[in-house]
Amino acid sequence: MGKITGFMEYERMETQYRPIRERISDYFDLTMPADYETIICQSARCMNCGVSFCHSGIVVDGGPIGCPLGNLIPEINDLVYNGDIEGAYDRMSLTHPFPEFTSRVCPALCEGSCVLGEHEPPVTVKNIERYVIDYMLENNKIHPRTPRIRTGKKVAVVGSGPAGLACADMLNRLGNLVTVFERADTPGGLLMYGIPNMKLEKSVVMNRIRIMIEENINFVTNSEVGFDVPIIKLMNDFDAVVLCCGAANERKLDVPGANLKGVHTAMEFLSESTKGLIGAGRAKNAGLNAHGKNVVVVGGGDTGTDCVATSIRQGAKSVIQLEILPSPPENRAEENPWPLWPRIKRTEYGQHEAIELFGADPRRFSTTVQEINGSRHVSSVTTVDVEWIGREGRMAPCPLPGTEREIEADLVLSAMGFIGPERGLIDQLQLDIGPGGCVMTNDDYESNLLTVFAAGDMRTGPSLVVWALSEGRNAAIACDRYLNGRGIMI
Ligand SMILES: Cc1cc2nc3c(=O)[nH]c(=O)nc-3n(C[C@H](O)[C@H](O)[C@H](O)COP(=O)(O)OP(=O)(O)OC[C@H]3O[C@@H](n4cnc5c(N)ncnc54)[C@H](O)[C@@H]3O)c2cc1C
Ligand code: SF4
Repeated sequence: MGKITGFMEYERMETQYRPIRERISDYFDLTMPADYETIICQSARCMNCGVSFCHSGIVVDGGPIGCPLGNLIPEINDLVYNGDIEGAYDRMSLTHPFPEFTSRVCPALCEGSCVLGEHEPPVTVKNIERYVIDYMLENNKIHPRTPRIRTGKKVAVVGSGPAGLACADMLNRLGNLVTVFERADTPGGLLMYGIPNMKLEKSVVMNRIRIMIEENINFVTNSEVGFDVPIIKLMNDFDAVVLCCGAANERKLDVPGANLKGVHTAMEFLSESTKGLIGAGRAKNAGLNAHGKNVVVVGGGDTGTDCVATSIRQGAKSVIQLEILPSPPENRAEENPWPLWPRIKRTEYGQHEAIELFGADPRRFSTTVQEINGSRHVSSVTTVDVEWIGREGRMAPCPLPGTEREIEADLVLSAMGFIGPERGLIDQLQLDIGPGGCVMTNDDYESNLLTVFAAGDMRTGPSLVVWALSEGRNAAIACDRYLNGRGIMI
């Protein structure tokens, strides 16, 4: 433990953001990384409590507690407090393949269950992680790690999101020869074409891909398995196949007018924005842009917030965000005690930007779309308030007559989440599926088909980067155990 009285001496320092008017004029990182002195004080706040839920990574009552990767957080904090940043990175790398991603986009499940957080604001674990990995990257201290001995086994990983990347990284470290197949033009999955640049700069993703290529991992892009590359060929050419194809089946708007021009999914909009930024191929939705438009975002979650923030950067005239659920409470409810993840109302970066620019929170809670109006192109949206009532043991939204309102709209973005994985490969392979159409596996990530494994959102349903990393890593260890008869943790 770095400093016994640290948690009594120092206040939590929140993530610092660039001024709103400055950051909305570009797509660069939203945040201002903390300096060394701040990080030392913040790491001193860790109490090394001895019952550190922060790294437990378990699911209780349907909700996660602590870091799914099992990061050794109190030890990392102690090393940082003592100025040993490289030692902290070494400790972090024992469990974490890519801290540069999570230290930017993770909701920090660890902080929700920090013991200090029971009575005081929790330790800023995520910002400490950011300081450590940025120090290592900026000082060129992250070098390709190639295994000394190769097993002679070949594995195909399908999909290059965080699950696929973590899986490829671990399989390669264990000595297997890995080829990653990706249907997009650039690897990274939602790290590349989902999460916007201001949350995760694409140069950070590309840098990691470069390191992985130097580690002899082979990336084949523009290659959809099951379409461009027959899956049977992969099963013949490789000793095992790990499917990490995500859960890209978006929930679509199902109201009159949903087929009008100007109605798009969040992923069409966000991926087009990133492609424009990095100059990648943009044939399908080229020109899709919020500039000068009244934008209605349907969905109050993180993807919706990313649409709000991207619309603002593109110069939208107005942005409204509809959320069918009621506003969460300001503080933890009684049935949501520590150390469960706090389900409270959060005003995120996109909403702060809308408040600064348009003078009001863009969110309208307990509200949904009744109809999208226009002749060929959308011109407005009719919304209606809903009340949540119990029906057959479940809560369901019930429209309240007389609460209809019309909002001007030139662009409607549906950000209502994902209903599960796409069916193409699953049907071709006749894989067993479970709830939400996700691939069913045993505890060793093995599907019902010999040599075919699955991990990430494709197995769990839509989740988080940190869960996808943990899935990919664990699937790699299980696959290696299957191929080489060992269960190595490194
Ligand atoms: C807009 C948005 C913002 C998000 N923001 C955050 C955030 O801030 N923090 C956070 O923790 N999580 C966030 N998430 C969730 C997170 O990105 C996902 O949980 C995570 O990326 C899932 O990882 P994955 O590897 O399982 O799948 P994905 O990242 O979806 O990757 C799957 C990859 O497989 C490829 N693929 C699919 N089928 C084939 C095929 N047949 N052949 C070849 N390739 C194929 C796809 O092209 C894709 O590249 C966000 C999600 C979205 C949509
Ligand atoms: S990966 Fe996320 S949950 Fe794990 S230590 Fe980092 S910020 Fe916390």
